[in-house]
Amino acid sequence: RLEAERPLHVIEGSLMNGMNTVGDLFGAGKMFLPQVVKSARVMKRAVAHLMPFIEAEKGEGNSISNAGKILLATVKGDVHDIGKNIVGVILQCNNFEIIDVGVMVPAETILKEARKQNCDIIGLSGLITPSLDEMVHIAKEMERQGFEIPLMIGGATTSKVHTAVKIAPNYSHTAVYVLDASRAVGVAQKLISPKLKTEYVKQISAEYDQIRDKHASKMGKRQAFTLQQARANKCVLNWENETPPKPTFLGIKVFEDYSLEELSHYIDWSPFFKTWSLSGQYPKILDDKVVGTEARQLYQDAQVMLAQIIQEKWLQAHAVIGFFPANSVNDDDIELYHDDTRLQVKTVLHHIRQQMPKTKIRPNMCLADFIAPKDSGVADYIGAFAVTTGIGIEEHLARFKKAHDDYNSILLKSLADRLAEAFAERMHKRVRKEFWGYAPDEDLSNAELIKETYRGIRPAPGYPSCPEHTEKATLWTLIQPDKNAAITLTESFAMYPAASVSGWYFSHPEAQYFGTGKIDKDQLEDYAKRKGMTVAEAERWLAPILR
Ligand code: SAH
Repeated sequence: RLEAERPLHVIEGSLMNGMNTVGDLFGAGKMFLPQVVKSARVMKRAVAHLMPFIEAEKGEGNSISNAGKILLATVKGDVHDIGKNIVGVILQCNNFEIIDVGVMVPAETILKEARKQNCDIIGLSGLITPSLDEMVHIAKEMERQGFEIPLMIGGATTSKVHTAVKIAPNYSHTAVYVLDASRAVGVAQKLISPKLKTEYVKQISAEYDQIRDKHASKMGKRQAFTLQQARANKCVLNWENETPPKPTFLGIKVFEDYSLEELSHYIDWSPFFKTWSLSGQYPKILDDKVVGTEARQLYQDAQVMLAQIIQEKWLQAHAVIGFFPANSVNDDDIELYHDDTRLQVKTVLHHIRQQMPKTKIRPNMCLADFIAPKDSGVADYIGAFAVTTGIGIEEHLARFKKAHDDYNSILLKSLADRLAEAFAERMHKRVRKEFWGYAPDEDLSNAELIKETYRGIRPAPGYPSCPEHTEKATLWTLIQPDKNAAITLTESFAMYPAASVSGWYFSHPEAQYFGTGKIDKDQLEDYAKRKGMTVAEAERWLAPILR
């Protein structure tokens, strides 16, 4: 009551200013992200409580000062928002007003809302590579519509090089890459401060000019094999001594409401700490000199919530796996057959081949190399899978949102992601031991599972050895994760719920992960033809790996 009688902008200011120091400490490495997000909960609740008074005062013609208004969005086709949410909280702690328009947001909505709310900055986030292209589109739209406000770019697949080379040139005003949540405050403050902005923008623009020059000269100097040369140097496996194992069944198998308790034992905790910007490997991180105390606290909170998730069934886990007779054809494709007669083609998978110059000892790899060629006459197989642990999450997120509890909301999302990866690991183990059954006696420790020392791989479409996301459409026709596991695809082929993993199973002992690297125009054209796409269409999906 007493507080409410003071000029309200002072109250809001003092609450926020209190947090401001927290933000600074965080930036200086004296405080850690989980702490900041946790304490923000107190601030947010207090502000929410005072909001009616603040609004009343506003109505009387008083303006409330804040550091600036920032719109945050995960772009169209993309569903991940843990990083964006963390950035939002940190910015709020530093007195910025955040307009979070959510996930899968089309360019029109982002720009309309930014205009309507009179935002000072637009911040875009994305996890999957098609989002890179969507960000380019938004920059072009901002230019076309005469926007002048700065654009901040962040998220897992974004980079300074991509921002400088592909995004910034499309917008006459500032587009700047933000490495992580801890940098967002500094960048936003500089972009808004009338004193600092001019110098900062000049500095960014000079730096990005340099990056573009360096990139252009690197690309100019880069040598590549032609697709034909690359294919001539493919990875040739010896199929004469290797009889591919036959799975115990062909077709699909569905798992409904899988035990979360069982999955919890397969969690790889190191990426969990990384999500929260605490660097180090689990379990060593718990005793780390710098982050140990913080890591322990976070781990403790995670254990409590995990137990609740399991006991109170907050989440449901579904999966679908499938095995199909398969052979590689035309070097880079994999034909899947209806049955073991191999007479009728069910579908064809299209893969990308490395085109960097290599010697015979280091082949130009393509995932198709790990499946027996059709003309070898060897009967080979391939597997497919999709798992999710995100069913039911929305209800709990809504509950935390209502309670202004970003900490638990982000904790839940990060745990759901961990459980999904754990599910992929658990299912892969059962595949090797039971369903494909080529390693019935495998007995690996958790640490060995995390290192993936076992036989076989599970490459995920969108990842470096199979970077083209539309292949997920084929995976979805094949094992129907939408119908069988309630996992759908967005227009950019992101999986929803976000806590989902999908991919292929390869059984060959020499099958390994690699990155395709950049490819050339000849492969783009060949790929488009094989996929039945126009070159322009293929270019859109291959943009991130096109030279
Ligand atoms: N233990 C980790 C597992 C995920 S990362 C976690 O809990 O987060 C490893 C997975 O990413 C692999 O199993 C595979 O599905 C995918 N992956 C990694 N490198 C890949 C590559 N080069 N190509 C395709 N998929 C890859």
